Amino acid sequence: MGVLDGLYVPPAETAHVYSLARGQTLGGLLTGALSANEQASLLMAFREHASPRRMRQGTEITLRYLRDDDALRGVDVALTPDETVRLSREPFGWKSDLIETPIYIDTLYASGQIESVLWNSVVFNPALSALTFEDRNRLIDRLDQVFQWQVDFSRQIRAGDTYRFVFEREVRPDGSMRAGKLLAAELVNSGTPFYAIWFDPNDDGNGSYYDLDGQSVRRAFLLKPLTYRRISSRFTTGRYHPILKVWRAHRGVDYAADAGTPIMATADGVVIHRGYDNSYGNSIVLRHPNGFTTRYAHMRAFKGGISVGSRVHQGDVIGYVGMTGLATGPHLHYEMRRHGEYLDPLSVDLPSGDPVPSDDRARWGRELRVRRALLESIPEGGPVRRTILADAGADGGDNASAESGVAPSGGMP
Ligand SMILES: [Zn+2]
Repeated sequence: MGVLDGLYVPPAETAHVYSLARGQTLGGLLTGALSANEQASLLMAFREHASPRRMRQGTEITLRYLRDDDALRGVDVALTPDETVRLSREPFGWKSDLIETPIYIDTLYASGQIESVLWNSVVFNPALSALTFEDRNRLIDRLDQVFQWQVDFSRQIRAGDTYRFVFEREVRPDGSMRAGKLLAAELVNSGTPFYAIWFDPNDDGNGSYYDLDGQSVRRAFLLKPLTYRRISSRFTTGRYHPILKVWRAHRGVDYAADAGTPIMATADGVVIHRGYDNSYGNSIVLRHPNGFTTRYAHMRAFKGGISVGSRVHQGDVIGYVGMTGLATGPHLHYEMRRHGEYLDPLSVDLPSGDPVPSDDRARWGRELRVRRALLESIPEGGPVRRTILADAGADGGDNASAESGVAPSGGMP
């Protein structure tokens, strides 16, 4: 490397960290530390980035002093976890800079075999111990969003199913996750592999997930009207035999969930019923293309603005779980019919979604190879792959490790 650069040694400094109390202002906090003139100069500099009057309770404010000196030389105000206003004393007043918290991109590799419940397997996966409990839950939400057209995690997961996924996340220096993106995932459900590969041809964040053949994972119907995380695991398989697929007389699917849980329309459609029925309680019926209808029953309340004739899109919230009508506890009763005939929502065979646009096929092919190789470098059912840390850098050179196709080598125990 040659000659070392000269080292810059910052002056010894002491810092006092305060949390803004309810009703307290930045000026109030500084009274006593600064003269009125200096305070006015500091607040003027601060206003270049934020309003000193509109600061959240609990905002962290750091006052910095030179050691052996009583004069305040700097103030840091953490506006959000990602932005800090740094105020510095200059010879003729105060100046301010907006500092963005440095972010690192790392890539998590995880795989596992499911013993009973997907949630347990992911939340207790040792590969994910670097994530907070809440972040692990967010990761499960992402998996659910990606596979919501293919696999109902609450009803279709079987012992022995396996998963592998590659998850890219933005991490702050304190280890908290700012954002995360699932790059590639595989789920082998009852022997059938399902894939979801992220593809964003315009690099604008509006990408989508495709299977290995370049078909969108999206379908006309979601398999379930609730997110997996909100479904209680008891109850939903009660009337549905997992192996024989016996569709019992009940003719609907019951999902237990806390009262108030949002209910989503499983497909685009039009509201043809919204009201109270004796046994269904508050219920909504949607009409969809090709003779399909769906019913959502026992709601506590309807979503505002939903009435007969309203058009809804797949995933729109239409109401909230309750126990109106004939229900012994809060749950959603969900039915699907076609030309009046009851269907098991899991057995409906629907055409796959749109393929990768033809203009983007070449790029898709390249990215698919890399992302598939990443997935396949994770041994099946194994516990943990290692984490690759990469500096995001100012040029946004993100996921260098993923794009260059560097496989996670050498597993950790
Ligand atoms: Zn029911």
